[in-house]
Amino acid sequence: MTTRSETQSTLDHLLTEIELRNPAQPEFHQAAHEVLETLAPVVAARPEYAEPGLIERLVEPERQVMFRVPWQDDQGRVRVNRGFRVEFNSALGPYKGGLRFHPSVNLGVIKFLGFEQIFKNALTGLGIGGGKGGSDFDPHGRSDAEVMRFCQSFMTELYRHIGEHTDVPAGDIGVGGREIGYLFGQYRRITNRWESGVLTGKGQGWGGSLIRPEATGYGNVLFAAAMLRERGEDLEGQTAVVSGSGNVAIYTIEKLTALGANAVTCSDSSGYVVDEKGIDLDLLKQIKEVERGRVDAYAERRGASARFVPGGSVWDVPADLALPSATQNELDENAAATLIRNGVKAVSEGANMPATPEAVHLLQQAGVAFGPGKAANAGGVAVSALEMAQNHARTSWTAARVEEELADIMTSIHTTCHETAERYDAPGDYVTGANIAGFERVADAMLAQGVI
Ligand code: NDP
Repeated sequence: MTTRSETQSTLDHLLTEIELRNPAQPEFHQAAHEVLETLAPVVAARPEYAEPGLIERLVEPERQVMFRVPWQDDQGRVRVNRGFRVEFNSALGPYKGGLRFHPSVNLGVIKFLGFEQIFKNALTGLGIGGGKGGSDFDPHGRSDAEVMRFCQSFMTELYRHIGEHTDVPAGDIGVGGREIGYLFGQYRRITNRWESGVLTGKGQGWGGSLIRPEATGYGNVLFAAAMLRERGEDLEGQTAVVSGSGNVAIYTIEKLTALGANAVTCSDSSGYVVDEKGIDLDLLKQIKEVERGRVDAYAERRGASARFVPGGSVWDVPADLALPSATQNELDENAAATLIRNGVKAVSEGANMPATPEAVHLLQQAGVAFGPGKAANAGGVAVSALEMAQNHARTSWTAARVEEELADIMTSIHTTCHETAERYDAPGDYVTGANIAGFERVADAMLAQGVI
């Protein structure tokens, strides 16, 4: 039998090859390291996983599409963006994963997100493969008409690659209900099909699932609560710092508040807000969801309890819990050290890969409960899969039913990660537990389906 250290050196060799074959894609390298550095115990224990080519296939997307997206701004000027869809792995079901519209988007970012998505989707226990897409288009400051023209142009190419049994995109950074509406409209127009299962995150009057907007944030709070329960604690009375002020952050704050915690921060790329009384969600939703404004407007309108800190690090605010909900690598080693000094008990990732590898290491060394995004934020994609199920049956479930299913799925993901970590001698290490459990499910399906 191969030892763990022999297996690890094979995986390290593969990581070097990944870096050579995918140059200038640091986020993808980081995501591949994060997974492959935890797989040695399971590959050493189960010889079928050491089969030549299995992990090599897993790190190579099944298909990568890049395309031109020309559109006209309100002044009639032609703009050209780049569109992406990476269909990473369909061993468990149709490719599933969001679309991100942000100027920082490039192929490496989409590949990191698509790779994460494979394991996340496997952890939900549902029949969905992994994919991701997006564009370097920046919706900030664009009129609704410009966003619509961009979405229509984007879908005019994307439509030929997706379908309810093939690939089912959803939202991510910069893509919410408005964008999904324009994308769905154009898909329907081009194909002349009412194929509601082709996109998730739709509006509730036309095929969207209740609780889908809330699902990622709610799910992350449930995951954090499960980690605390393992330590004999609950959310009641805990102070929480949350970053971001978009879809994930808003519903994270909503669930924290509902379960008795005090969420005192939110942020965007201009800075962060601290509100000692706890974030006023009605005001935050009005500014972010209705006015599409910046977080400094929150502090201006909230009064004495709140202040806006331009730039700076939201992680400087002392708290029991931290829930990063903005973007990748937003919580670095220094931020982790500050959180630890201030007595943080748990960090749960609402965003994808928000903590750097150095930060994760430091938090785990300090005994902080750490929930990796592929487990903690899987509630969003899980409810997207439930939206697909409702579309397929041409029905819609009550909010209570969807929320109950979401809670069951998050509990099951927590238990799976926890038990898998124990089984592989890494008790309390949710990173190892999530990676191995997700890997086992995908790898078993890939082995059963042959070399494709
Ligand atoms: P939104 O676009 O709704 O909100 C993103 C928030 O993060 C905004 O406040 C934005 O501020 C901030 N942000 C984004 N990029 C940066 C940056 N480079 N620097 C500083 N702040 C930034 O996106 P979501 O809430 O949907 O997504 C947030 C995270 O959660 C992402 O990592 C996403 O991949 C992940 N996620 C989302 C899911 C979903 O269901 N939506 C599911 C699972 C994970 P600003 O407006 O100033 O840019």
